[in-house]
Amino acid sequence: MFFFREQISNLSSQCVPTMLTGLFRMHGMLVASHPWEVIVGTVTLTICMMSMNMFTGNAQICGWNYDCPKMEELVLSSDIIILTITRCIAIVYIYFQFQNLRQLGSKYILGIAGLFTIFSSFVFSTVVIHFLDKELTGLNEALPFFLLLIDLSKACALAKYALSSNSQDEVRDNIARGMAVLGPTFTLDALVECLVIGVGTMSGVRQLEIMCCFGCMSVLANYFVFMTFFPACVSLVLELSRESQEGHPIWQLSHFSRVMEEEEDHKPNPVTQRVKMIMSLGLVMVHAHSRWIADPLSLNSNLDVSQVSSMSLDNHLPKRIDPERPLWQFYMSRLVSMDIEQVICLGLALLLAVKYIFFEQVELESTLSLKSPLSQGPDRAPRWSADQCCRKEVAPSHPPPGPPQDPEVIRPLPAPTTEPQPTFRLGSMEEERESQAECPRAEPSQPSLPSDPRPLEECLTILKNPEMGARFLSDDEVVVLVNSKHIPSYKLEAMMERPERGVSIRRHMISSKLPNSSALSSLPYLDYDYSKVMGTCCENVIGYMPIPVGVAGPLHLDGKQFQVPMATTEGCLVASTNRGCRAISLGGGASSRILADGMTRGPVIRCPSACLAAEVKGWLESTDGFQAIKDAFDHTSRFARLQKLMIGLAGRNLYIRFQSRTGDAMGMNMISKGTEQALARLQEQYPELVVLAVSGNYCTDKKPAAINWIEGRGKSAVCEATIPAKVVREVLKTSTEALVDVNINKNLVGSAMAGSIGGYNAHAANLVAAIYIACGQDPAQTVGSSNCITLMETSGPTGEDLYISCTMPSIELGTVGGGTILAPQQACLQMLGVQGASQECPGENARQLARVVCGTVLAGELSLMAALAAGHLVKSHMTHNRSKVNLQETTPGACTKKAS
Ligand code: NAP
Repeated sequence: MFFFREQISNLSSQCVPTMLTGLFRMHGMLVASHPWEVIVGTVTLTICMMSMNMFTGNAQICGWNYDCPKMEELVLSSDIIILTITRCIAIVYIYFQFQNLRQLGSKYILGIAGLFTIFSSFVFSTVVIHFLDKELTGLNEALPFFLLLIDLSKACALAKYALSSNSQDEVRDNIARGMAVLGPTFTLDALVECLVIGVGTMSGVRQLEIMCCFGCMSVLANYFVFMTFFPACVSLVLELSRESQEGHPIWQLSHFSRVMEEEEDHKPNPVTQRVKMIMSLGLVMVHAHSRWIADPLSLNSNLDVSQVSSMSLDNHLPKRIDPERPLWQFYMSRLVSMDIEQVICLGLALLLAVKYIFFEQVELESTLSLKSPLSQGPDRAPRWSADQCCRKEVAPSHPPPGPPQDPEVIRPLPAPTTEPQPTFRLGSMEEERESQAECPRAEPSQPSLPSDPRPLEECLTILKNPEMGARFLSDDEVVVLVNSKHIPSYKLEAMMERPERGVSIRRHMISSKLPNSSALSSLPYLDYDYSKVMGTCCENVIGYMPIPVGVAGPLHLDGKQFQVPMATTEGCLVASTNRGCRAISLGGGASSRILADGMTRGPVIRCPSACLAAEVKGWLESTDGFQAIKDAFDHTSRFARLQKLMIGLAGRNLYIRFQSRTGDAMGMNMISKGTEQALARLQEQYPELVVLAVSGNYCTDKKPAAINWIEGRGKSAVCEATIPAKVVREVLKTSTEALVDVNINKNLVGSAMAGSIGGYNAHAANLVAAIYIACGQDPAQTVGSSNCITLMETSGPTGEDLYISCTMPSIELGTVGGGTILAPQQACLQMLGVQGASQECPGENARQLARVVCGTVLAGELSLMAALAAGHLVKSHMTHNRSKVNLQETTPGACTKKAS
């Protein structure tokens, strides 16, 4: 109501175009907010028209309950040819319209929208024509023209507006917005079309008059459907699909969100609008002149098309189908007695439909397969990438130029062409093409290589020759050198002219040792920057593991918005987090603080006696002792600054927990280096000490430990939010009371019953792991980083709002070092605006990332706890997380049987 009042008050103060837009917006909002009413109203109106028609005694629908005779008229064969061609053009036109829709991104949703419009317009115009007592004999001829009149783009543009929404409220707003933008143009277009086509009704050519009459009706019906039935159906369908997904909008297609940015494109060009208006005024005058002034009789002739038809039908009254005869028999007989022109049109329509549904799907898939390793089979067309182009000269898949090879010779290494090449791409197709163009320049020409391996000594000489090297050896020869230990297997990448070749050779070498020699065929290895991996991230590389990365957000945290990247294979996780983020946003956002920042390392030192251990402890705790150790520690890094030593004793074993800030690095390497230096200084003081291990598990790294939970490790963070009762009800689909109850009994009592340490939460590890994998963190540190206590309380004046907090004392992460140096991981850090070292204050990026982790955990906790409280968890996992492939063909009992 408020909306309408607001709209009305706005209207009075605005000029006519704005008023019109406002009216259309109001209309859109009304239709989208009351879809049931509009749909039922339209259907009722349609049925009323039909039944009124029945009451008038003309309840005859050809092909349904009446076998309408064709008018006996002289139809020239040239006319039939022209009509057939027109029909075919109409079908092809519709096909291209659908094809264009597909380019918009969604083949089916928009396709169905278009189909729906055509269908409903067609049905509606049929009913209108019946209502006006017109017979349908001419519809056959009018149909092609009718199809040509339909412009699916506007219906689709409106659907795109709706699909770009995040919530049902947004669906309504966006439909209203779409209606405001598209409605005036569409109204004017319908008017102009009607008037233009209406000219045909004055032609005096009977057949043309019938067609034009139908054309006008169709335009009006199409307009009516677009303005009422269609937006109502879109709104309803989206609402229903949302209900079934527990609040998660399945329809949301990110690229549609651009529709808002493109709004200007939909807005009508004022010049065109003016031309159309002038044109329609002129046409109105022409119509008025011809009908009421020039030839009043023509009005009758135009309006009473049915009379014209009925004259010719007098002797050919429609005959009722034999009630004994089943309907299917009637249609079969009609099918058999089809004209050749109908067969042609039907055949063409079927052909294009098959092409659209099946073959273009394949095309779509093959486009997608550029990004998917699994969809590429060996029989697919070769992918001419930069990499392949370069590999041609060296990789075994492209035998080097040289003497022709004997096809009968069995090669020691199977040509990788038999291995499906993974097709992961980092760049766009354009970039790919560009790099192809540059490729030949990038690599020196490949020397010709022998087909059979040369003697070991010769290969060794080539390898050691600084002017030759591995590039002058074939893959088989490299394998021989690896097998003879002249090339260490782990150094393959480093010793080849390109790391990727080393990876490829290693894959081939281990493939033969695997239970399934083609096991690696779906593990990609091409197009990866191994230079960043070598010596830093991984050894003995055989490829890389692509993991789906989803995005949850926006997460409203501390007045900022974050789109959180999450790498996971657990269905539901991202969607659920997204719902939590939405609840937080609607509640006004979350707030977070960093409580402490210090990474730890805890070596174990053996002292000759427990007494000496106690003495060392005392020295380390003294100001002088601490300062001496700190000096040694701090000079190892620009960022490591020793904050604290925590010392534990077990007999004569001494455990020293070094705690230090580490800037933007997670800091384990950094702090280990500092600790080593500090221990050296300690040994100077107490030479009898023995350092048993630089890590004595007193740190504690990658293992559950109470010390991290109590003392903190890395970043300690807290995050809180208040969720209004309405949001709890409508977004989380539960109540505050139920949430608080489940939280106490599950996260607090349940975890206490299980003897948990730091596990007073529902699934903090899920969020931590997904963000860690996406952002290049050490995933093993999920163990300590997911320590979290989730607390929920009732709040607000009525006590129905929800207050939630997550406290995480040991978030171990960084934005420099480790996996954060890899480009895809950097991309995810960039999404959050925290990639690399903070320029303003070292450590600020890492602390910001810790806040985001804590905020995302809060979102995840909210949503999962709500699903548990509402009893939705199992249902949604069964829908979104269950494998759809048959994982095991044998029944569970089969192995027992085998064993017995
Ligand atoms: P790192 O890459 O080893 O060290 C960080 C480097 O970045 C240092 O050289 C540091 O300079 C430099 N840097 C530049 N700007 C910086 C800034 N603003 N803040 C902090 N450093 C900055 O990274 P790390 O975090 O210490 O170690 C991470 C790796 O350790 C991960 O791969 C992880 O998996 C692994 N890890 C190691 C252990 C272990 O026991 N060693 C345990 C767990 C995990 P300075 O040279 O001046 O310090």
